[in-house]
Amino acid sequence: MLAHEILAQVRSGERTPTEVLRFYLKRVEALEPQLHALLRLNPRAEEEARAVEQRLAQGEELPLAGVPVVLKDNLCTRGLETTCASRILEHFVPPYDATVVERLREAGAVILAKANMDEFAMGSSTEFSAFGPTRNPWDLQRVPGGSSGGSAAAVASGMAPLALGSDTGGSVRQPAAFCGVYGFKPTYGRVSRYGLVACASSLDQVGPFARTVADLALLSDRICGHDPRDSTSLKAEPGFTRALGERPALTVGVVRESVQAGNSPGVLAALENFRRVLEAEGVRFVEVSLPALEYALATYYIAMTAEVSSNLARYDGTLYGLRVAGQDVTDTMRKTRSAGFGPEAKRRILMGTFALSAGYYDAYYGKALRARARLKADFEQAFAHADVLLTPTSPFPAFKLGAKTDDPLSMYLSDIDTVAVNLVGLPGLSLPAGYEEGLPVGMQLIAPPLQDERLFSLAQIFEQSTGGVFTKAAPIACASA
Ligand code: GLN
Repeated sequence: MLAHEILAQVRSGERTPTEVLRFYLKRVEALEPQLHALLRLNPRAEEEARAVEQRLAQGEELPLAGVPVVLKDNLCTRGLETTCASRILEHFVPPYDATVVERLREAGAVILAKANMDEFAMGSSTEFSAFGPTRNPWDLQRVPGGSSGGSAAAVASGMAPLALGSDTGGSVRQPAAFCGVYGFKPTYGRVSRYGLVACASSLDQVGPFARTVADLALLSDRICGHDPRDSTSLKAEPGFTRALGERPALTVGVVRESVQAGNSPGVLAALENFRRVLEAEGVRFVEVSLPALEYALATYYIAMTAEVSSNLARYDGTLYGLRVAGQDVTDTMRKTRSAGFGPEAKRRILMGTFALSAGYYDAYYGKALRARARLKADFEQAFAHADVLLTPTSPFPAFKLGAKTDDPLSMYLSDIDTVAVNLVGLPGLSLPAGYEEGLPVGMQLIAPPLQDERLFSLAQIFEQSTGGVFTKAAPIACASA
């Protein structure tokens, strides 16, 4: 079911929030053993659904009344374990809700479960979860993408109508593309990061997953908005649902460098088709260039690891989660961090610490900052010619489990189309736009800062004119419906 259908049913009294919840719990029971998209169910979900019923009975207007939502496990949930799929945070129970979680509860949503992810949101396949990988609902031998793979797989398989993930370098958009759903990374600062466990703070942003543009807008309208508890939060009111149905005269800039870069045939075909469909709808296309894009991946993996090495210093066996007692404080830290972090987290801490170390700082981190500024200037140039930019979300569809885990560089290359957007703080949206050998293919739309709503108008024109052929449910979802 779509979130909009659930809302209509709850409002008309056809189903109660508790009945909706039970429907989804049954789907979870049937599908979760094959997918492992979830780390834990919310044991208080029924209680919360009943509380929503009471609020409705008292006449409250609830924009997400009774809609179940899955949350990536790096979003703090009061009283409900939040692990970031890491041993080092196993059994950590936050004493507060993240702002986005608080907002969802206020709107009457029911928190269904916490979703699997790559440890501390580092990875592109969800295979770096300390609790085992998630599988792609389209092909169980393939990855769902990452790091928000659990959230994407939950929505694609119909275990939840909506989910939240986080996107530091593509972790909402790339799994959305791999799983055939919509994923949106808002302008940096539009969604509060309060209660989102920090990965790389200058890049992190919470983002929604949904099966239609209208559902994506519904959730975006709830999570965006100013929050005094996040110092980088912007004062911009969301207008996503309002933007639907608008047909602004937009020019789309196809990013030359991302089209040239070794895309698989199905991805190129989807790009061509996207262009054809929108041109027929009167949208103009031009070619734009981002010369500094070739440095984006290198820049990202220096900037993000530097921030990670600093952010992850707090997991030292003192305040949070795991503690492996040693002979003294230093030994306790060493033992805790050795036992608690998985291989990818360790690799990034080491790389980031190196990049920031005395004597290397200018050569690596300083240079990355300069490259970041060049990239920003390139985007500004491109936006002088186009209102929205277009690239594939990923050069290829979902790959096989195990295909890249032993080769960090080839895993990092999965992010080639998504990281630049985070480095510059822009909004990006991945939409389902094709298939390659039965696997979904996604296209990415990018807008200037705070013009996020444009992406929704454009995505909806494509969705409507293709009549949902690219937003089919994953086969596994149909089999168990
Ligand atoms: N795949 C990218 C990485 O491994 C992006 C991660 C993310 O967006 N959280 O860093």
